[in-house]
Order: sequence, then C-alpha cells, then structure tokens
Amino acid sequence: MTETPTITIPADLLPQDGRFGSGPSRINPSFVRDLSNTGTAFLGTSHRQSNVKKVVASIQSGLMHMYGLPDGFEVVLGLGGATAFWDATVLGLIENRSAHFVCGEFSRKFATAAAAAPHLDEPVIVDADPGDAPAPVAVGGVDLAAFIHNETSTGVVAPFARLGDALVAVDGTSAAGAIAFDVEEVDAYYFSPQKALGSDGGLWIAFLSPAAIERIELISTTSRWIPEFLSLKTALDNSRSAQTYNTPALATLYLLDRQIEFVNHRGGIKWADAAVRATSDHLYSWANMRSFAEPFVTDEALRSPTVVTIDLDESVSARSVSAVLRANGIVDTESYRKLGRNQLRIATFPNVVISDVKSLTASIDFVVEAL
Ligand SMILES: *Cc1c(COP(=O)(O)O)cnc(C)c1O
Repeated sequence: MTETPTITIPADLLPQDGRFGSGPSRINPSFVRDLSNTGTAFLGTSHRQSNVKKVVASIQSGLMHMYGLPDGFEVVLGLGGATAFWDATVLGLIENRSAHFVCGEFSRKFATAAAAAPHLDEPVIVDADPGDAPAPVAVGGVDLAAFIHNETSTGVVAPFARLGDALVAVDGTSAAGAIAFDVEEVDAYYFSPQKALGSDGGLWIAFLSPAAIERIELISTTSRWIPEFLSLKTALDNSRSAQTYNTPALATLYLLDRQIEFVNHRGGIKWADAAVRATSDHLYSWANMRSFAEPFVTDEALRSPTVVTIDLDESVSARSVSAVLRANGIVDTESYRKLGRNQLRIATFPNVVISDVKSLTASIDFVVEAL
C-alpha cells in the first residue's frame, strides 16, 4: 500500500457533512439528536408495545403514502436486510423457477441464492456487463422475474417491466425513498433502509402486491420447509399487527420513520426524485468537464441519480484521491471494491445536499491539482 500524500484541503472548500457513502449512508444528524432526546421513552422499551408499534405503523403508512400504493398492497418488514429478503424469496415467493436480470454484484447475489436452492429449477440469468443493464424481456417458464432498480455496485439505474405472468420482484435498496417508479409494474419492491432512505441497517421492507401475497399464502401451505426467521408468511402476519417476528433495532425504525416523514413533508417521492437528479447532474456534468474524469456509465439513460460512478484517467489514482479526501474528513468515495476500477463512487441520496456535492467537486479538483 502506498502512503496517503499529506494534502490539506482548505476549510472553505470542505463540505459541511463529509459523508458520501452508498451505504450505510448519511443519516440526518437532527434525527439522531431527536432519537437521543427520546430519553427513556423509546430505546430500551418493548417492541410489542404501542410506542414502538406506532412507529412501525407510521413507517408502513408513510411508505404507502409516499408511493401511493394501490389498494391491496401491503408494507411488510423483517430482519436481516435485503440480503435476507433474497433468501426469504427463494423460500417463499418463487414457486419453481425464476429469471434474474443481472448487472452487478447485488443483482448477481440474488441470482446466486436462487441457483443454490435445491427445491428450485435452475434460474434463467439475463445479464449485462458492469456499467450496462439488460433490457427487460419476457422469459417463458418462470414464475418470478427479478430486477434491480439501482445497481449500487456500478451506479446503474436499470429498467424493469411486467412482461408476462411472472411475479415481478425489484430490489429497490439504493432507490427507495429517492427514485420514482410505476408501482403497477411490481409485485415485490424490497429494500434495506440504510441506503437511499438514510436510516441504519438490519431491516428489510417490502411492498407486496395482492398477487405476491397470494403466492406467499399458497407456498406456505405446501410441504416446503421454510425456516421461521425467513418465512414471508410469518413476516406478513407480524407486519399486519405492526410488528416483526423477532426483535428489530429500534433506532433503525425511529430513524427510518423520521426520514420517511421528512421526504413526505417535502413533497414525497416526486420531490426526492427531482432533488437526487439535480445533485447527480452536478456530478456528471462536472466529470464531463474535467479532462481527468468521465462518467463510468456511458448510456445517459442508465446513469443512476443516486449512486454516481466516475472513472478517473490513469494518470490520477482514484485510490489516492479517496484516501486524501478521507484524511480530510470526506469519507466513503471509494468505488465498489469488487468492481476493480480506477473510480470514485459518490452517493447522491436525498440527504446529500447539493451544496455539499459542489464542495466535494471543488475539493476533488484541489486534491487532483495537488497530487
Ligand atoms: C446494499 C444492498 C443490498 C444488501 O443490503 P443489506 O442490508 O446489506 O442486506 C442489496 N441490494 C442492493 C441494491 C444494495 O445496495
């Protein structure tokens, strides 16, 4: 490892908040203070009682409202993040065979989980190179089509669509609470709260359509063995009484509820969508104007508005740039480790204000000049 050069970014260039990570992402500090101010009234109290259950109910109704979920949709919660939801889906939502539209590490992990399941047929994989996304196509002989809304590992916002009879499952982890979409196109839209929704980790949340709920009920009556912790039926039953099957992190619930309220108060998903597009546009335009930088995703329509990936010219080491930024309090601009590119990855979730991103690009300019 080469040492980080000692470069001090002038204080007037630095962002107010130096967190630009894609997850865990920036949490609004005022919500953390509010959580602290709940004192003895919330943390350390029973999740089976009303003061926690009302927060869960508020998360559910807040998300219903944010997306205008149609009648019959339910907001279901469980423990273990989106990763656990993949296993839960393999066990409780895929009947025989799934199709996976893969364009990076996260969409591939779900495909791998389905492929490993002894009770399922070999999944169909439709994949694209990193930085690209496969076009949705109808796949015959599958009962679930899995898409990703935003591939956090590459900074691609991917298309998804209902084509045929298969249930449509979409990983919305780095999109939920930030990018608008047509709810009619999905049966299961699931995510973890520590990315675009600026809370902490440990939970999964899913919007489930009536068709998805029917499938869950159906599979739960078969002889398939489903561990209770990963049972979507159990999660559904608990969510209907504003609870989770086992103990959730109460801080995560509190911060999530506050963030949902924050977005809804400002105009909901439309507001968030416009905000993240403005912030990411600043970064993409900046990269286009610099001789040493260019957006990694060449197709403009696939450039993520929430996770911006910027390749640097080989004359500038992205690793050094990120290390110098880190030494100056600007953290988590490193690219996704397994992608292996000379790249910066910057989250522009709704909590990342555009003034901070402008300070970030000014700071990067300063560092590149000094290196
Ligand atoms: C981070 C991430 C996951 C995994 O989330 P966990 O909470 O760690 O399980 C899954 N999908 C996407 C798109 C992600 O960004």
